[in-house]
Amino acid sequence: MLEQGWSKVRRFLLVKFRGKYVKERLTLRAGECGRCTLCCKVFFRCPFLVDNKCRIYGVRFEQCKAFPIDREDLDLVTRMGGKCGFSFGGDDE
Ligand code: SF4
Ligand code: SF4
Repeated sequence: MLEQGWSKVRRFLLVKFRGKYVKERLTLRAGECGRCTLCCKVFFRCPFLVDNKCRIYGVRFEQCKAFPIDREDLDLVTRMGGKCGFSFGGDDE
């Protein structure tokens, strides 16, 4: 659980203070969201997730839009028992 809490904080900090890194990472992202909703259940179930849909999708947080930022995020989803629809090429393979 601590790991999930740190993962949330980490993404928040990256989006807030390492915008260039996040932008670079997103250019390496391939695939598409499989709508498993696991990234909305990291550490706690987001209150905006209703009937497995984001109630504020159009104005969702930047860290939501940026998920997954890197391999660490993909691995987290795997450890939560799922598989993110995104992947990364290059240095992450
Ligand atoms: S974990 Fe990946 S596939 Fe699942 S909802 Fe989040 S971005 Fe989409
Ligand atoms: S705001 Fe929406 S996209 Fe972000 S975690 Fe909550 S339900 Fe998921």
